[in-house]
Order: sequence, then structure tokens, then C-alpha cells
Amino acid sequence: MRALTVSEIIRLWETAYRYHPVDRALSMLQPVLPDQSRDELAALSIGQRDGLLLALRRATFGDVLPGVNQCPVCASLVEFELSCQSLQSGATPPHPEQLTEGGYKLMIRPLNSFDLADVAMAATESESHTVLLQRCVSEAFYQDQPVEPGALPMEIEERIAATALAADAQAETLLDVSCPDCQHRWQSVLDIAHVLWLEISARAQRLLHEVHVLAKAYGWHEAEILELSAERRAAYLQMAIV
Ligand SMILES: [Zn+2]
Repeated sequence: MRALTVSEIIRLWETAYRYHPVDRALSMLQPVLPDQSRDELAALSIGQRDGLLLALRRATFGDVLPGVNQCPVCASLVEFELSCQSLQSGATPPHPEQLTEGGYKLMIRPLNSFDLADVAMAATESESHTVLLQRCVSEAFYQDQPVEPGALPMEIEERIAATALAADAQAETLLDVSCPDCQHRWQSVLDIAHVLWLEISARAQRLLHEVHVLAKAYGWHEAEILELSAERRAAYLQMAIV
């Protein structure tokens, strides 16, 4: 996986801010995976997508991902560091999982970006819940008779959610956090698509500020300034500011 270039970072920031987060995640991958169509990227499981986003984050901004959480007990801010590479590795590849319970036999498949986009279009929470169920249950039988995924009992729905996660382990990255002040321990979810988007936005705005300073100081054009290596840009910036 290669890094996003500075021009790609700025282009992403100026276009993708208006997209839904599901589309934004795919837009971040598009420039570095030009051989894959948008539909091919959308068909990847969410775990596969997040694995690629972690690789992209590592290539663009480095392996160490700083995190911060507020302790739910004493409200202290807990800072920690994650490694994109270790978060990426070791996850079981996405696969269909069978769920058998109380006479029901279901086949659960990993969710992808098409599914999440459909869920996002649902008007109510209960409608999005139904869409999610219909999408991840690819086959449903009760005592060997086919049944509608929408007509499954409440008790089995919780098992479906857990099974869907087992089918795509990388889709939910849980972090174990512990508070150094009160020793409380909890789990926090890492949304790599959201984190990477915030980093891309911040970097794009910083790049534009650098363009502004250098263009004003030397009369160079935006494209010329962005073509400079990061080291040269930093050196000129220092001279321009002094
Ligand atoms: Zn605490």
C-alpha cells in the first residue's frame, strides 16, 4: 500500500467532506487502489475495508496511532498509542458463519459497504435494524422450513449480531483501555475510517496554510509548492516565517 500524496490529501478533503461516512471511507481508498472499481471496493467486507484503511494510515502517517479516551469513572484523560500494523494483523479473513439455535438454522454473512449504505438510508431505527438483519442473514430455516429473516424472534437477533462479528473479525476493533488514576478498565471501539478522515482533514488544512505562507513569501504557485518534498517545504517555511 502506498501513501496518499499531498495533492490527493487536499483533493479528498475538498470533495469528501460532503459524503456520507460510508462513501468517504471508500473515497480514501480509491486513489491508492486504482485497479479496483468503486463497486469492487464497496463489496469488500467492512473488516477488509478497515484492514486496508489501517494499511493506508500506516503508509501515509506512520504506524503509531495516538489515541485518547476519557475514563468513564473518574473522567481522567487516558492517552495511549496503537500500532496500525498490529491492529491489522491476526484477524481471521471474513467468512460465512452458521448459527443454529432453538430449531433455527441460519447462515450469516459479513456486511459490506452496500449494506451499510442501505442501513443509512432507513428512515427509522427499527427499519435500519430490519435492513441489517435481512442483509446479514443470507439463509434462514426453522425446523428445515425457510423463514423470512425479518420474522426471526428477538432472542435470536442478539446471537445474529454476535455471529456477524465473528464472521468478520476486523469489522470491530475493540481496544482494552485502563485508567492509571483509578485502575478502571473498559473497552473502546476504534473507528479507523473516522480517525483517518480527521487526520486527512487536519493535514489538508495544514498543507493549505503552508501553501499560503510560501506563495505570499516567494510568489510560487500552489502546484509548485505541493511538488516540493516535505523536507524542502519545511525548510522554506522556516525561512519564510523568520
Ligand atoms: Zn479513572
